[in-house]
Amino acid sequence: MKIESANFVGSALDLEACPDSNMPEFAFVGRSNVGKSSLINLLTQTKQLAKTSGTPGKTQLINHFRINNSWTLVDLPGYGYAKLSKSKQHDFNVHVSGYLTGRENLKHIFLLIDSQLKPLDGDLAFAEWLQACELPYSLIFTKTDRSSDTTVKNHAGQFLERCLQWGLEPTDSYSCSAKTKKGRGPIMAWIESQLPKKKREKKSPTINVGWMKKR
Ligand code: GDP
Repeated sequence: MKIESANFVGSALDLEACPDSNMPEFAFVGRSNVGKSSLINLLTQTKQLAKTSGTPGKTQLINHFRINNSWTLVDLPGYGYAKLSKSKQHDFNVHVSGYLTGRENLKHIFLLIDSQLKPLDGDLAFAEWLQACELPYSLIFTKTDRSSDTTVKNHAGQFLERCLQWGLEPTDSYSCSAKTKKGRGPIMAWIESQLPKKKREKKSPTINVGWMKKR
């Protein structure tokens, strides 16, 4: 997908504060520090659309970005940050679950998983919750440049194996690296395939003036 425009629309605390929109929406979620902002910047071919940060658990807002004036990319707050107070964690659960279950134009959720780590129950539990809510989701294994291909394959394989054990059925799974740019193509191609086809301009029938004149 060629990026013609990528604009920040706004930050919302909860579903109620989200901007009105009937554009198809695709949301990205994962543990704090999983590489979500870096991935969003990779997908949108921007340097700083999403703010990357070394400080996990910082962004607690639902950020909306309009892409090519045809769809919205949503950056959800990272979950599972241990140092977050219990009440902040509770707010996260209420706000994020409210958005995910209540947003009518939400088409798909991308759940990011750190490919450096063995499967974490917290990530599996999040996938299980999405599945229980009948929300369509895919997995993206991030930071693949940080480990050997074998390790990435093993961790992704183990995660998918655990999904099977838990009865989870993600639509798809992708591997990507914000550093090497690996994985951008397939994710964007899939999003593009989900967008309504652009209407072709109708050509008005041409009238054969010469023939008409003859008669
Ligand atoms: P977020 O908290 O999930 O938004 O994560 P960030 O995108 O801010 O990334 C957290 C840290 O991981 C930052 O230091 C990034 O530079 C680094 N990072 C993110 N993605 C990658 C990647 O694909 N490869 C490498 N090597 N580092 C990454």
